Amino acid sequence: MNKEQLSQLIEDKFDELLDLLDQLIRFETVSPPARNTQPIQAFVRQYLTDQDFEVDHWPFFQKDELLVGCKKGTDSTNYHSLVLNGHVDVAPVGDEKDWIYPPFQLTQKDGRLYGRGTSDMKAAIAADLFLFKLLKEEGIPLKGDLLFHSVVGEESGEAGTREILEKGYGADYAIVSDTSELKIWGQGGCITGWIKLKTAKVFHDGNRRNLIHAGGGLKGFSAVEKMVKLIEGLQELERYWAITKSYPEFATGSNTINPAYIEGGRNPAFIADTCSLWFTVHFYPNEKVEDITKEVTEHIQKVAQADPWMRDNPPIVEWGGRSMAEDKGEIFPALELDQDHPGFKHLVKAYQNIKGEDPVIGMSPSVSDSGWFTPFNIPVVCFGPGEMKEAHALNESSSRQELLEFTQIIGAFILDWCNQKR
Ligand SMILES: [Zn+2]
Repeated sequence: MNKEQLSQLIEDKFDELLDLLDQLIRFETVSPPARNTQPIQAFVRQYLTDQDFEVDHWPFFQKDELLVGCKKGTDSTNYHSLVLNGHVDVAPVGDEKDWIYPPFQLTQKDGRLYGRGTSDMKAAIAADLFLFKLLKEEGIPLKGDLLFHSVVGEESGEAGTREILEKGYGADYAIVSDTSELKIWGQGGCITGWIKLKTAKVFHDGNRRNLIHAGGGLKGFSAVEKMVKLIEGLQELERYWAITKSYPEFATGSNTINPAYIEGGRNPAFIADTCSLWFTVHFYPNEKVEDITKEVTEHIQKVAQADPWMRDNPPIVEWGGRSMAEDKGEIFPALELDQDHPGFKHLVKAYQNIKGEDPVIGMSPSVSDSGWFTPFNIPVVCFGPGEMKEAHALNESSSRQELLEFTQIIGAFILDWCNQKR
């Protein structure tokens, strides 16, 4: 079967895809609170097994599960392999009564598909799975391996994709089909950190005069007050970055450092002996997590070193984490697009063939799991159906036509890429 025939078949059988999307939406995989994806993963696992995929799955936090399917190619060693990646968790829906249509089922109206996950990103997952079914039904062999990552945790900063890649489930090229409006997107990165200050001694509030005034003689400090100085240090670095760094397609000063949350002290009878700041750093596509964290950590330590009190009690800077809920941290590495990569060129070609025009290539205004492929040296793009303004929104919807085109583009890309020699 050639690409044109597959494209026609996708159109003819499109209602089957929409049935599958309805089934996926009915699993209430809201995150947070998460811990609810075992049933949908069992469903996807069975679906993949039925299409002759070998599957691996394992627990990821409690009652959540990661799943990988692999359909071996007929000549894996010599032909390109591909990962398609999608997260099955969805954003919270708020009060269901505020929705025009029920959030956990598919409603079709005037060319739009309504329901939680229609844009972010169960429609893309339905498209991938449906394509696997067509490949099996039509007996279309692929020479290279075809992998599917069924990911959880994306909505809560729990990088399921990272763990899947750590287990070695990579490929020659990857497409993360998170919401991208059929644009081919890279992204800036994002990481959270903590600055923790702790004094050596704890003082009663009655000692404050002796800690802050001439002749007081007590060496100590309020961690809350010293944190102000460190926050000012972060602001200074943020301004410096805004002036010295830039990246096309990002407004200058998009590389921000946000002091997002602060806690400290005991009660008004004490001089605050602890203070912790939770902050968020956004950085550009050409920057690495390790360079950014090093730069910020060194800057904070220098600010502290210039302060005679903090010099003896330097702050501790901690970075990232594996879950916003469990260890209060997250990482989304950046993704710089490699437009010369053959995988990229093939995707552009598949797009042109289906849409009759050039794709929009750019940068996501948000972040997805696509950045995780970069530290594992796997070339990747974010390319998916659905609109950014619909993701996480009340009455989330997406375009039926766009989903059809997405499915046709990915179908053509699979036939092309997985049958090309390495
Ligand atoms: Zn998403």
